[in-house]
Amino acid sequence: MTTKVKGLVERLKDGEDIIVAEGYLFEFERRGYLRAGCFVPEVVLEHPELVKVMHEEFVHAGSDVVEAFTYYAHREKLKVIGRENDLEILNRKALKIAREVANETNTLMAGNISNTTIYEPGNKESEEKVREIFKEQVEWAVEEGADYIIGETYQDGGEAMLALECIKKYGKGTPAVITISPTNDGISYDGVPLEQVARKLEDAGAACVGINCYRGPDTMRPLIQKVRAACKGPIACLPSLYRTNDQVKSMVDFKDHVTGESAYPADMDPYLISRRRVTEFTKELKELGVQYFGLCCGNKAYFTRAMAEALGRKPPASRYSPDMSQHFTNFKDGEHERATRNFYVKT
Ligand SMILES: [Zn+2]
Repeated sequence: MTTKVKGLVERLKDGEDIIVAEGYLFEFERRGYLRAGCFVPEVVLEHPELVKVMHEEFVHAGSDVVEAFTYYAHREKLKVIGRENDLEILNRKALKIAREVANETNTLMAGNISNTTIYEPGNKESEEKVREIFKEQVEWAVEEGADYIIGETYQDGGEAMLALECIKKYGKGTPAVITISPTNDGISYDGVPLEQVARKLEDAGAACVGINCYRGPDTMRPLIQKVRAACKGPIACLPSLYRTNDQVKSMVDFKDHVTGESAYPADMDPYLISRRRVTEFTKELKELGVQYFGLCCGNKAYFTRAMAEALGRKPPASRYSPDMSQHFTNFKDGEHERATRNFYVKT
């Protein structure tokens, strides 16, 4: 059963902003419920109650969308950990949890397919395998009532096109949002500038196109500007939450500043951006004409709340947004003198 809430396409047509909290894989890895490396969302089967709570947290923080946690829950990835037999049950469970939270909170539920890791441009056999992966996940998403389907983190334009093709073919009219992932030079692995891939996806019928993952705000910005210039319709931007820069364009390239060893994926906390940067970047994106706002790897509920507030929203979590005027160190002279006396060394 799908919701009666206003659909994605209608919202985009009406010029509304959409906020989409992502980043489930990293957050559950950090919490100790899935393994970095294979990055398979086993938590869906082992601790479904925690997945539900994280969906609820993100909605509480301002997400308009509950994205089913089926990222990397595809045949190839489950094979890596010997759980191929759990493929359908995991997908359906993740979709049911997301549907339940969306129904309870009047939000949209999105199915989710992703890069398969086995796509090889021009290799018919690999393309067929990729199609099969997309087909089964799309069909399950539709059967479990997805309002739309997110296809994301494609580094090959060809694989992104296959994802869209399969959503159109097997999605029974379910809208598609397709986002591609920026490599260091802003060109897809199969050699096409990302903005051209985005335009191709738009022309082929995606409801919204854009970029997600790998780059943080500072290195994502030039690429999303190009996507804006190339596309006519609504565009999406979902950066990672890391301090990427001219020297380190993507989160996977961070080196530990002491040992020089790769910080990806388990030692990246020191390179997280601030909530303030999320606020600023969201406003920058709004000015650039982005309509579909999201946060990818490194996201946490407080970042999503910062994004929502930057767009003028007041989600339930805003009740507890920081207010340092209530902190004792900011009380006026004479109030709580004892506390202030203990906190400061008077000069
Ligand atoms: Zn990501």
